[in-house]
Amino acid sequence: MRIEAKIRNNICLTAHPLGCEEQVKKQINYVKNKGLLEGCKNALIIGSSNGYGLASRILASFGCKAKSIGISFEREGSSKHTATAGWYNEKAIEKLAAEEGLDSWWINGDAFSREIKAETARMIGEKLGKIDLLVYSIAAPRRKDPETGELFSSVLKPIGEAYTSKLMDFEQGLISETTLEPASEEEIAHTVKVMGGEDWMLWVDFLLKQDLLSAGFKTIAYSYIGPQLTAAIYRHGSIGEAKKDLEQKALEIDQKLKAVRGKALISVNKALVTRASAVIPGVSLYISLLYKVMKQKGIHEVCIEQIDRLFRHCLYGQGPCVIDEKGLLRLDDLEMREDVQAEVARLWEQISSQNIEAIADIQGFREEFLAHHGFGLEGIDYQADIEP
Ligand code: NAD
Repeated sequence: MRIEAKIRNNICLTAHPLGCEEQVKKQINYVKNKGLLEGCKNALIIGSSNGYGLASRILASFGCKAKSIGISFEREGSSKHTATAGWYNEKAIEKLAAEEGLDSWWINGDAFSREIKAETARMIGEKLGKIDLLVYSIAAPRRKDPETGELFSSVLKPIGEAYTSKLMDFEQGLISETTLEPASEEEIAHTVKVMGGEDWMLWVDFLLKQDLLSAGFKTIAYSYIGPQLTAAIYRHGSIGEAKKDLEQKALEIDQKLKAVRGKALISVNKALVTRASAVIPGVSLYISLLYKVMKQKGIHEVCIEQIDRLFRHCLYGQGPCVIDEKGLLRLDDLEMREDVQAEVARLWEQISSQNIEAIADIQGFREEFLAHHGFGLEGIDYQADIEP
């Protein structure tokens, strides 16, 4: 069948296998051009199929030439439907790693479950011995509690009072307004349950108990803070509570890791287009303005550039690496620069459906969003029939 992009409500329902492979290749080439990195040797990446997790997998595997296991939760294709982009990305990693003689494995399943933890532990024992790096990069809408079987859903809502925000439909190029009612106490607790640090801690506890963490082991999870402009919906909203929990759990995990002279870290990454961020109200508009400003200033970065900087400068290199007073690695340093934020805030006030194409980098947003699903890449024949 001929595969085209189908977008509804900022979600892309299709993906292109060859395009996905191409964009994975581009990320790999970026890392290889930077040169080999002395770093991890045996890595586990949870949430490895897209966005920041995919970039982390590429750094570990193609940057450090580590043996790696990736875990993600993706849907296979059929004769009528395409697979998810993440499925094609994982298949591309498998193929491209094999071509370079790199050892890499993929587990497709629910990382929150006990079964996947047990399967992963078995695989680490068999294939890697022990791991020295665990990257935790899940963005999930729901989580089933492994003990009780109860299903928790996360929400993207403000806390305390309703919040009216500008909203961008990037496909149509329209700006509208929406009012979000505040999250209930229960919704906040559920969001923390899904996107907070509990599962990360369960993973570390489990692998530590199984003696699968080597001396000097490092684990890192990704957080976001962002500016005042998005604070009501992000940092001070339900998802912000989950991120604060994640950051708190890092301190607790760090204590537990003393047993192996290990370290738990948080990297506060830059806001950028991924499948997860495109659906956060207000944040997609903020990102398209941020892109405009950061590109104009020549300081724009995408996932692979952020994670390359994280690995080379903060995790394994000699810096420069910005670490704040709470010990958080601030990969969002350029995003949060005063001049950048002042300019984004100025544009935010001006934006409307009439001037969006000129004021925001909506074109860049669209292109990157489509590329995450394998569309719009050079050298791919999108008219050709292809088996999904
Ligand atoms: P993404 O949507 O691109 O990728 C999410 C990954 O999680 C995918 O690999 C998916 O398969 C996996 N996943 C989801 N549910 C799973 C489950 N039950 N079991 C196993 N895997 C599962 O997301 P992203 O934007 O790269 O976000 C990754 C992390 O980075 C999140 O913690 C996010 O908050 C953080 N972050 C994102 C941004 C941003 O702007 N995108 C900025 C800073 C921090």
